[in-house]
Amino acid sequence: MILAQWLLTGRPTSVAMDITHRCNLKCLHCYWWQQEHPPELGDEQMITFLKKLRAGGLRAAILYGGEPTLRPKICRAAAGIFDATLAFTNGINGFPELENGQWILSLDGPERENDRIRGVGVYREATKNLKAASSPPIVHMTINRLNQNSLAQFTEEMLTLPVKGLGFSFVTPNQGVADENLFIPLRERNRVVMELLSLRKKYGEKVGFTQAMAQQLLTHGTFNQWNRSSACPVTRRVRCYRSDGRPKACTYGDQADCSRCGCAAVVAYRGAFNPLDYRTLRVILGLLSPAYGAKQPYDEKSIANISGKINGR
Ligand code: SF4
Ligand code: SF4
Repeated sequence: MILAQWLLTGRPTSVAMDITHRCNLKCLHCYWWQQEHPPELGDEQMITFLKKLRAGGLRAAILYGGEPTLRPKICRAAAGIFDATLAFTNGINGFPELENGQWILSLDGPERENDRIRGVGVYREATKNLKAASSPPIVHMTINRLNQNSLAQFTEEMLTLPVKGLGFSFVTPNQGVADENLFIPLRERNRVVMELLSLRKKYGEKVGFTQAMAQQLLTHGTFNQWNRSSACPVTRRVRCYRSDGRPKACTYGDQADCSRCGCAAVVAYRGAFNPLDYRTLRVILGLLSPAYGAKQPYDEKSIANISGKINGR
């Protein structure tokens, strides 16, 4: 139904809500914990707010923070209110049961790279919790200068774990900020985009990155067609709110630099519908529908080999 609404109407379909401004980590690349935030909506206010958005026609919710698992009651309530709910987490608090919802675990590479960015011990804790999750999370990596050379290792490691799939964004800096330590210049980013495509070819659909998505990011592809606020589908299709209920321009905040955007949501949306692309639609269906799974990898032997390698066989 959400896909039909996307196709047949120009209306917003989804809400992206920071359900809390609190977090249990202090990641190197995160501006969030360094900022002052106004008080959050209380539980009942937040639930009423979400219900009003659903009544106004928004069918899907994306829950962000801070760390959403610090408000499990709101996560569960959102999953009951919306047709589809995606919830991002750092994995430290585990993956509470989310009926009709999908957890997305943010990791920033293999243990060494991830823990350099997210803190010592975070990778082990998050992957331990992932193995105990009642339904498989999708793992999402934000690619930056510090972890860009570990994509193959990270993909191999993740595919030995009970994950539903893998997703990738590129770091999106704020306007006027060079962010030389993290941001990958656009022309250099092209090489990484091509590497993601080769990982997809090698390991199959669980690598949620298609040719059509790559086109959206390549400087010689269609990147220049959407990398401004007026042309970005997020601004037309997703209503974004802070944890006190005030609107914001983008999930990345009001200061995000559209001309250097690396958002996976935009890339998937545009890849699926400009023009219609079956493979990218399957990536989106996997996100929206917890029961929808990737096909078996093209190269089963590769996975068996990886598994053996990592387990020392
Ligand atoms: S887990 Fe997310 S919100 Fe918390 S510090 Fe890390 S990047 Fe920021
Ligand atoms: S930063 Fe990216 S996702 Fe956000 S409004 Fe700009 S182009 Fe869209």
